[in-house]
Amino acid sequence: MHLRIAHLYPRRMSIYGDRGNVMTLVRRARWRDVAASVDEIECEDRLEAKRYDLFFFGGGQDQEQDTVARDLAKKGPAIAEAIRGGAAALAVCGGYQLFGRHYQPADGERLDGIGVFDVHTEAPGGAAAKGGTPERFVGNVVAAPDLGALGKDFGTTPLVGFENHSGLTFLGETARPLAHVRRGHGNNGRDRTEGCVAGSAVGTYLHGSLLPKNPHLADWLITRALRRRYKGVRLRPLEDSLERTVNESLAAGTA
Ligand code: GLN
Repeated sequence: MHLRIAHLYPRRMSIYGDRGNVMTLVRRARWRDVAASVDEIECEDRLEAKRYDLFFFGGGQDQEQDTVARDLAKKGPAIAEAIRGGAAALAVCGGYQLFGRHYQPADGERLDGIGVFDVHTEAPGGAAAKGGTPERFVGNVVAAPDLGALGKDFGTTPLVGFENHSGLTFLGETARPLAHVRRGHGNNGRDRTEGCVAGSAVGTYLHGSLLPKNPHLADWLITRALRRRYKGVRLRPLEDSLERTVNESLAAGTA
């Protein structure tokens, strides 16, 4: 088997350790003797979206998002179609916002998203409007997975990570949250939801990198991605005692 990953805009959209997510996906596939390859796709690159089993899109500052959103207007429909056709995806923070319907930054034009997730994001008022910097949600997050979106097999191990965003993301009528926040802010600091799931695509505010300390989510994504071409595939368990210890200590707030 072969896991084909497209890493979207890594030069501009990989902050707070996001590249570690791609490393985790590749390693956890290869440790099961699944071949894994990564194509880095920048604005100037062509994208043949149908080739890929999984898309990764990391976080970035507003000015980088503005640049990337212009290119995503061209590449986005094919990416959204590939995901609707069964490809998996992990979109973190700025990437998550641009996989939604739109992102209105604190200052500047509204950025259109590609509508993988039925969510929209608004920054809480511009710096000029408030005479200061817009409020940011920064800190560790612990959230309980939503099994309605992820499936019962996912289990109840919490999702842990680090958030740093000013955007407030709101779920639309058809959107399913990834998780429910126990500690931290999540999507908007109001409805206690964190992230979103649509098919095999996951959007989240959790940086860190997310996947090394949430191996259960990494394996969920790899399994979903492989099932696009290899029906019924199951991954054998790995020796994850270190990853579990990290997850448990962050969930307990002792890390
Ligand atoms: N610029 C966006 C915000 O501040 C996303 C930030 C990020 O990707 N960490 O909400």
